[in-house]
Amino acid sequence: MSDPVKYLLDEEHLPRFWYNINADLPKPLDPVLHPGTQQPITPDDLAVIFPRAVIEQEMSTEREIEIPGPVRDVYRQWRPSPLFRARRLETALNTPAKIYYKYEGVSPAGSHKPNTAIAQAFYNKQEGVKRITTETGAGQWGSSLALAGSFFGLDIVVYMVKVSFQQKPYRRAFMETFGAQCIASPSDTTQSGRAILAEHPDSTGSLGIAISEAVELAAQSDDTKYALGSVLNHVLLHQTVVGLEAQQQMAMAGDYPDMVIGCTGGGSNFAGISFPFLGEKLRSGRDIQLIAVEPSACPTLTKGLFAYDYGDTAKLTPLVKMYTLGSSFVPPGFHAGGLRYHGMAPQISHLTKLGYIEPRSYNQLDCFAAGIQFAKAEGIIPAPEANHAVKAVIYEAEQCRDSGESKTILFNLCGHGNFDMQAYTDYLAGQLKDLTYAEDEVAMALAGLPSVG
Ligand SMILES: *Cc1c(COP(=O)(O)O)cnc(C)c1O
Repeated sequence: MSDPVKYLLDEEHLPRFWYNINADLPKPLDPVLHPGTQQPITPDDLAVIFPRAVIEQEMSTEREIEIPGPVRDVYRQWRPSPLFRARRLETALNTPAKIYYKYEGVSPAGSHKPNTAIAQAFYNKQEGVKRITTETGAGQWGSSLALAGSFFGLDIVVYMVKVSFQQKPYRRAFMETFGAQCIASPSDTTQSGRAILAEHPDSTGSLGIAISEAVELAAQSDDTKYALGSVLNHVLLHQTVVGLEAQQQMAMAGDYPDMVIGCTGGGSNFAGISFPFLGEKLRSGRDIQLIAVEPSACPTLTKGLFAYDYGDTAKLTPLVKMYTLGSSFVPPGFHAGGLRYHGMAPQISHLTKLGYIEPRSYNQLDCFAAGIQFAKAEGIIPAPEANHAVKAVIYEAEQCRDSGESKTILFNLCGHGNFDMQAYTDYLAGQLKDLTYAEDEVAMALAGLPSVG
């Protein structure tokens, strides 16, 4: 028989627990601070916008957290997701490296995001919440929460970053099909939105602004909560289902990764695939290299500061210690909308600061070229965000070709690009440009960081 190209797990191998890396951190995370008092935040402070179960997970240091039955029941529709060996890509690259990818594009929304959307919708429903507000960049998170809302009977309101709202009409249609309300942000429906529009009427929006709008709306009514699709500990926790499956599948393949690669916007898909492996390294010392890839136009980990900052533009959220470009920074409108965020997950930031994660950045043209090379070999068109991971994988595989070293590379193909054809159209027509972030704007945004302690 020829060598396998895919590793599939039965439903019975669907993980029963998520993995919480807080249990294994060599040094605990810095506390999250209340934006007013700058004192460590309490569960009561967070209860205005999050359900209790989610707050508990946010603060937990327990290593294993049980995945509720109804969440597993929904997961089973597409999980365990397949692990592929990219044999045709390896051949095309003429590399001795072995390339594996976990494919999260098989979810109904086409990305890894439903892994946490389903869990968050479940906990909200369980606690009697009627409506959830959120923001979305590229549209994947809004789509995923819209889907989860329709499964669990919740109203969903999505503030979509204006540039994506205009670039991606089908994402809006997707959300509305599931009954969600989708509003271009900045909007005139909130104070935060109106304040931005008064100053910048042509604002293309940003995740930071959209978060302000969604949080503002949630804080106004008792039956409404807010959900975030990345960055926070509980979101990264839910995504570990990806890496926990990948561990079993790598074992089926009789292999173990030398490096794990993922793209990073807020950090959740990267954490999802890498944290279970990193946990093993932290507990047993088994070595592994973790590479987080971000766009050169929004270089949070590679050019940002590790400091306390707000998660949003209107400074409504708690202060978290993270790599940041400053909460007032609005990244240029490049096509990987899911990577346009000024901050980075505190857990990813902390582990990068400690040297466990190696950050890297690439520009958009190189990433699209890599994505197309991948698509031609493997038949899957990656999401523009995922192209960043693909670029790093191809680079590493070419290093192996040149040195003759055979490494085992695992990466997260966190979503397909079937809703992103406008981006590919622009690229193929030669109309995409490499955008650079404005260094003076970042300097200004960083100068405006809150002074803490
Ligand atoms: C949202 C999204 C991202 C960025 O978010 P992370 O939390 O860093 O994973 C990346 N890729 C895809 C396909 C997304 O939907």
